[in-house]
Amino acid sequence: MTEEYTIDMIIQKILADDKQYDLSKIIASYEFAAKAHEGQTRSSGQPYIIHPLAVAYILLELGMDTDTICSAMLHDVVEDTPVTLDEVKRLFGQDVAMLVDGVTKLNKVPIFNREEQQADNVRKMLLAMSQDIRVIIIKLADRLHNMRTLKFRPGVKQRNTAHETMNIYAPIAHRLGMRGIKEELEDLAFHYLDPFAYSEIEHILELKKNEREEFITSIKETIASRFRDQDFAETPQIDGRVKSIYSIYKKMFVSHKTIEEIYDKYAVRIIVSNVGECYNVLGLVHDMFRPIPNRFKDYISTPKANMYQSLHTTVLGKEGIPFEIQIRTWEMHATAEYGIAAHWKYKEGNSQQKSDKLDQRLAWIRQVIEAQQTSDDVEEIVRIIKNDLAPEDITVMTPKGDSISLPVDSTIIDYAYRIHTQIGHKTVGAKIDGKLVPLDYKLKTGEICEIITSNEPDKGPNRSWLGIAKTNEAKSKIRSWFKKECREENIVTGKAELEKSFKHFRIRIPDDKLGEFLADDLKRHNCNTLDDFYASIGYGGVLLSKIIARLKDKYVKNYQEQEEEQETAVIRPVIKPTSGIVLDKIDDCTVKFSQCCNPLPGDEIVGFITRGHGISVHTTSCTNYKAAVRRNNPEELARWMDVQWTDTEQRKLQTSIEVIATDRVGLVFDISGVLMEARIPIVHSSSRNLKNGNALFEATITIAGTDQLKNLLERLRRIKGVISVERARV
Ligand code: MN
Repeated sequence: MTEEYTIDMIIQKILADDKQYDLSKIIASYEFAAKAHEGQTRSSGQPYIIHPLAVAYILLELGMDTDTICSAMLHDVVEDTPVTLDEVKRLFGQDVAMLVDGVTKLNKVPIFNREEQQADNVRKMLLAMSQDIRVIIIKLADRLHNMRTLKFRPGVKQRNTAHETMNIYAPIAHRLGMRGIKEELEDLAFHYLDPFAYSEIEHILELKKNEREEFITSIKETIASRFRDQDFAETPQIDGRVKSIYSIYKKMFVSHKTIEEIYDKYAVRIIVSNVGECYNVLGLVHDMFRPIPNRFKDYISTPKANMYQSLHTTVLGKEGIPFEIQIRTWEMHATAEYGIAAHWKYKEGNSQQKSDKLDQRLAWIRQVIEAQQTSDDVEEIVRIIKNDLAPEDITVMTPKGDSISLPVDSTIIDYAYRIHTQIGHKTVGAKIDGKLVPLDYKLKTGEICEIITSNEPDKGPNRSWLGIAKTNEAKSKIRSWFKKECREENIVTGKAELEKSFKHFRIRIPDDKLGEFLADDLKRHNCNTLDDFYASIGYGGVLLSKIIARLKDKYVKNYQEQEEEQETAVIRPVIKPTSGIVLDKIDDCTVKFSQCCNPLPGDEIVGFITRGHGISVHTTSCTNYKAAVRRNNPEELARWMDVQWTDTEQRKLQTSIEVIATDRVGLVFDISGVLMEARIPIVHSSSRNLKNGNALFEATITIAGTDQLKNLLERLRRIKGVISVERARV
């Protein structure tokens, strides 16, 4: 979108709103920002001020307050212009200055750029959020506009930004309950992370667009006509839509469903005046359409963790086409759409209830900050942000009748630590509805759970609990206990684990070189000494399974003895000649890829005109080519010509795959062999060990089309030890 945002649009919107704004302050902030950014342009070539205006507009749509809108106008002036924070404070007050400062600080936090800083940066971001939640709301709006205009940025930047958006900002928007922003961020990020899948779904949706629209319209009409003879406080509003591309993708590629099999790609939403009417409407729609068993969810009596409330049911339409119906009140609707922003949008409503909700949301942020204090691992923190927001939470009751929300599959250990850290540490057993259950018992909604604790003052957790706990909260509390209480034991355990692992991976480092070999890892995990590092491994702060592949790599590259290399030497696969991938100017002549240097797309290449066999392509670093250059024989040199990869190679789209296999030596080589043989360029790949002993290999590849992809997945499945090959969840 290259929409032209203007101050007039903002003024019009403010005048049309019932909410009170300080219009002159907003205009003043605009004039100040426009002057400060004068002469600056965006990557799109537009004047820079378009961006702050767009961010302010997005926030206005969310119903944010005057100071937030002013801060949006000014959010880049301190960073990108000579304007100082003091000046902002003098002109627009303490609050605006604080918000601008918060956003400026967040901008300096490049989450996925330099690995050793990541954990720290995520922590900084969460801290800024907990100080004033409006900072992150402005940041989300800023990110949304940057994502909308991402096509003007260079490719590498696009991927990093999209990755960060998908992994940090969209989950935060979700947790803050801001559905609209979350879905748009996801769809935009997904478009850059897997353009191939994105265009596939977009194409499918486009195919039968009219049919789909007619389907939704006819359902809306059917429901509306049934409502006409019913008694409602106000006529219910009925909306219908096809769900977001990313949500369809998740269902199609992750649960392997065709688009026709996705139950809830259509969503019809019915908004009524009060809770009683929600249940009446449910009765009516179940009477009109056949409900699909087990698809009814009552999020009114049991709200989701992000405070979302609605009734959900999936029913069959006339032609047997299933669709989801969501039923909610206007208030629930505001919470669902605007989430935390509803606090500002509907401030004049029931203010006690509103600030309770705000407190609960802020409590989540504090919880995440606490939970990640014991972990230096950014992957873990990202997982905390993403995972602890499983959409389907359970609610368990304490014997006193307080309700505790936990992710699905939570155990007694999770519950005990959620109640209190000390209760967690001292847990010896639990009763569910009065009956004793084991510690790994999985709790279900509605159960009453009583924890039995030990009287011993020194009682602490058991290491095996780390395997039982589901929430990161419990895990990090267990870890931090071990970190504090058992340093000596942790050093011994950690050292033994490292040695065992080195032995397994045949990493042989003399003792006097170990410090040097592990130096990077010590730094990365904030360890000053080897003992600190062993201790971290011992209490689980450093996961060997995550670092061992990198260590092995480093070992093979820098430390391994020559004779050992033979053992793991890679046999490069033979490349079958494919035509049509090269050439500049001479498209139709026969082309083959030389076997001496195996050129791959992206390599610098030269062509050699053979006698009667077309052109053979070599890399410019090929020894044969270099020898020819050295010989400097004019007749011979005349047969070497400049060739280039054609652009079509660049225009192909990227997608990601995941291979799960039993861990064995040479697995990664076999997988990359297949990819090379199929001449599929790898943009990025990584592999790691899973908890169950299997290995996970992930790769982002460049692909020409569905057929090529299917073919590739089929070939990967045939590799020895491979358990599954799937397209990856983005
Ligand atoms: Mn910005």
